[in-house]
Amino acid sequence: MNTAPSHYRGRFAPSPTGPLHFGSLVAAVGSYLQAHHQQGEWLVRMEDVDRPRCVAGADTDILHTLEACGLHWDGEVMYQSPRESIYNEVLTQLQALNACYPCGCSRSEIAAIAVQGSEGPIYPGTCREGLAAGKIARSIRVRLDDTCIRFHDLLQGEISQYLFREIGDFVIKRGDGLFAYQFAVVVDDAEQGISEIVRGSDLLGSTSRHIWLQQKLGYPTPRYLHLPVAVNNAGDKLSKQTHASAIEVADPRPVLIKALNFLGQQAPDELRDCQLDELWQWAIENWRVENIPAKQQIPTADE
Ligand code: GLU
Repeated sequence: MNTAPSHYRGRFAPSPTGPLHFGSLVAAVGSYLQAHHQQGEWLVRMEDVDRPRCVAGADTDILHTLEACGLHWDGEVMYQSPRESIYNEVLTQLQALNACYPCGCSRSEIAAIAVQGSEGPIYPGTCREGLAAGKIARSIRVRLDDTCIRFHDLLQGEISQYLFREIGDFVIKRGDGLFAYQFAVVVDDAEQGISEIVRGSDLLGSTSRHIWLQQKLGYPTPRYLHLPVAVNNAGDKLSKQTHASAIEVADPRPVLIKALNFLGQQAPDELRDCQLDELWQWAIENWRVENIPAKQQIPTADE
């Protein structure tokens, strides 16, 4: 397996589907501190590949909130939406390897026969050996093999997944012609030379898919650290979908302290009264990965 580049480069990759809320702020803070504690770079990428889900103006709103929080990124912000021709080139490489195939199944056809996996129906392989007569290609799926993907998560420990049995041949280009997150994220992390990915544990179950694609495409595999995610009392992620409140930009110090404490960093109360750059100086110097709770979810009140 190729190894990650030695120079630390991390990233925060929000989807511009609404304002930054506490759940996404935790991922921003965790990835920022992990990068800066190691004198690394921290990039921001707008994951706007799923255009129907994007909200106009949410990208600039997120960027303003990051700036107001003192979370300054390195380099230019990468947007996914203009990168379709690059994704198509990479798709051609997978096609040349016979590592993907067109699929003509509708959701309801799949639902009618598929076994349910942890992340939805496991594709039953109907179109693997070619489209049946009269079927029209809708999406493109990878052609998995029955090997186990294993990786060491810096917080969650050893993770292994038999992708073929547990997830099934997954979609990389959707029926509406858009590339899937699972594919775009791998292409972009490789192109940006990301050495370590720090993000929420809601994506832990996607990581084996990313590693499978990296291996097929000959990309290095970055290190991974999946942070706990903030959930409400019903166990749902605090997100745009659960109408979590937007970050208070006039004075972000209380919510930043809340995020630091959520990540187990025991931020002193006096930080409430300091300048933002002093708050960050304290947080970067005192960042301890070993103090982050090794949980996938933590119930948190949304104020
Ligand atoms: N864009 C994804 C999200 O907002 C995060 C992707 C990632 O960090 O890999 O949930």
